[in-house]
Amino acid sequence: MNNNILEVNDLKVHFPIKGQLIPKTVGYVKAVDGVGFDIEYGETLGLVGESGCGKSTTGRAILRLLKVNSGRIFFEGKDVLKLKKNELKETRKNMQLIFQDPYASLNPRMTIGDAIEEVLLVHNFGTRLQRNKRTEELIQLVGLSKTYLTRHPHEFSGGQRQRIVIARALAVEPKLLICDEPVSALDVSIQSQIINLLENLQKELDIAYLFIAHDLSVVKHISKRIAVMYLGKIVEVSDSDELFRNALHPYTQALLSAIPVIDPDSKKKRIILEGDMQDIMEPPKGCRFNNRCMYAMDRCYNEEPETIDFGGGHTVDCHLYK
Ligand code: SF4
Repeated sequence: MNNNILEVNDLKVHFPIKGQLIPKTVGYVKAVDGVGFDIEYGETLGLVGESGCGKSTTGRAILRLLKVNSGRIFFEGKDVLKLKKNELKETRKNMQLIFQDPYASLNPRMTIGDAIEEVLLVHNFGTRLQRNKRTEELIQLVGLSKTYLTRHPHEFSGGQRQRIVIARALAVEPKLLICDEPVSALDVSIQSQIINLLENLQKELDIAYLFIAHDLSVVKHISKRIAVMYLGKIVEVSDSDELFRNALHPYTQALLSAIPVIDPDSKKKRIILEGDMQDIMEPPKGCRFNNRCMYAMDRCYNEEPETIDFGGGHTVDCHLYK
């Protein structure tokens, strides 16, 4: 039986580029170019890749915050791209987004209590008394005191602000949270606290997460599965443990090699990626990773690799395995 809360198939988000002299479309930035994955109820899928690879665009496209060019998005079996305005509002209640910068996500002039209540009001939640009670429950759910509700965002640390943002996102009991780099702006010690909080909330509330990050080590513990994205495409998907044991794509191997190891006897060698990610406006012919790959061969410059299924949910797009 299909237990997926979210299914994304062949998603494409292309941004038009206008000419400098005449307002005519002269090309497209193919930010997301044929992305597909699914997430089960209560599961975490990590989506990892360098800045600019299209992972945040994917998250926003799922919520229809951006125009999608083609592809299908199913949330609880409903075709998100075909939803009418009211149906979309109802679906968005069940799919909430957490941004990277908790300070920018909160109105500096609003108290924390008002900021949380605002979400409840948008979704017509209960009476004033019920909203006050729910606001108190939420702030405590994320490990903060209800006495904080009368304070303003500037009175909190980055970690506390991210807890408040999470409380806001949980206000209307979503079934899926899209967490877009939720810990990237925080100190390392605070990062683990927020990740632990998200893990505990998932156990308690059975929420699914799409956890977007640029650092594989951040997503390792929270994700059951990980999808690695490069230049608008997913290049490898695997169970998290399997990916750390047996990464197949040269790009995933390079990302893994960049994670610092504390063991001084470790023989792990860092793979230095030459050059930058290709210009997304002009992705290379063939494999998009070909200009940085130490294994690149003739066909890598001409043929785009197909997805190869290694079983157990482990897939890779690379000619090395064909
Ligand atoms: Fe490297 Fe070729 Fe595999 Fe691309 S397809 S990752 S260039 S070996």
